[in-house]
Amino acid sequence: MPNPSLLILPGDGIGPEVMAEVRKVIDWFDSNKNVSFEVTEDLVGGCAYDAHGAPISDETMELAQSVDAVLLGAVGGPKYDVLDFSLKPERGLLRLRKEMDLFANLRPAQCFDALADFSSLKRDVVAGLDIMIVRELTSGIYFGEPRGITDDNEGGRVGVNTQRYTTAEIRRVARAAFDLARKRGNKLCSMEKANVMESGVLWREEVTWVHENEYSDVELTHMYADAGAMQLVRWPKQFDVIVTDNLFGDLLSDAAAMLTGSLGMLPSASLGAPMDNGRPKALYEPVHGSAPDIAGQDRANPIACILSFAMALRYSFDMGQHADLVEGAVEAVLAQGIRTADLLGDEGSDPVSTAEMGDAVIAAMGEA
Ligand code: NAD
Repeated sequence: MPNPSLLILPGDGIGPEVMAEVRKVIDWFDSNKNVSFEVTEDLVGGCAYDAHGAPISDETMELAQSVDAVLLGAVGGPKYDVLDFSLKPERGLLRLRKEMDLFANLRPAQCFDALADFSSLKRDVVAGLDIMIVRELTSGIYFGEPRGITDDNEGGRVGVNTQRYTTAEIRRVARAAFDLARKRGNKLCSMEKANVMESGVLWREEVTWVHENEYSDVELTHMYADAGAMQLVRWPKQFDVIVTDNLFGDLLSDAAAMLTGSLGMLPSASLGAPMDNGRPKALYEPVHGSAPDIAGQDRANPIACILSFAMALRYSFDMGQHADLVEGAVEAVLAQGIRTADLLGDEGSDPVSTAEMGDAVIAAMGEA
């Protein structure tokens, strides 16, 4: 078997800084666990625009389509705000998602015990929280036609967007969510608004079909998305995996993310259909952006990016034990009180640098 291949796209701002720490983790696996990756590095976002005049080149897209997984840092920065919409750094990311057809966006919301006081909710509500939101990413109201703003012929205007889902689109994201549930707590909650939306009725029926025909061993519940939002802040630990559409997923995953405290801690994955080797098309990236306010200062928290690599180990490479090792090391480092500046809040004393946080995670991996 050849080594699994990984395309690394550090991007802009703090992207390269946090990715340098992931490279240390990759090197550690190579030297200590005999786990090696075929790593290629390339450009995306503003740096790709600077080099090629486009936020991602066709060559980089081809590479992304050919590797086992893509790991991205962050894109964007004030320097590029003046660019035409089609050339903006974010278009590089959108092109990756679209052309790789990454329809399932996985957003874990995990609250490490040492950070439970960071949440805006009470400690007992969030301590130990570990849920996964699966958001449909390539269809729904953000893409449905017709869309646009037109005259209403009565002197006003009308804005239109269309929520549209097909059987195939719902079933494939439902399967991705059921598969995840099987690897976790075996519970899936599907959220829609079947009480007021036909697309919600179809969503519920199709998720139920997939359950009855293919995943009856997984516990399935349904919830209206508004009730789901309330439950997420009331008692989030009742959930294991949540699956929902593009619009509701956008809102619910951001709300759930904030239960856990800092943006610098949040990984994500976007998965598509299985390739010939059985691995899904996959892009892993931290939730945060390029943080121009702290870029170049060695202050960024690399944990979101390191945890994104841990997700790649788990979901692309079936290396769950190695993913556990990385996540356990992060937990151990936090328990020791080691903090980058974003994790210190108002206490504010003695933050470690980006590189020191990476080194601390590596040291904890060695001690595990
Ligand atoms: P941001 O996530 O970059 O930053 C928001 C705040 O969180 C900033 O104060 C920043 O310093 C802090 N922060 C973010 N990540 C951190 C980390 N790892 N460690 C410590 N602090 C961290 O969002 P923004 O400021 O709204 O956007 C900045 C740029 O990033 C914009 O150009 C935006 O378009 C882009 N962006 C890119 C992505 C992406 O690449 N996926 C996502 C969001 C925003």
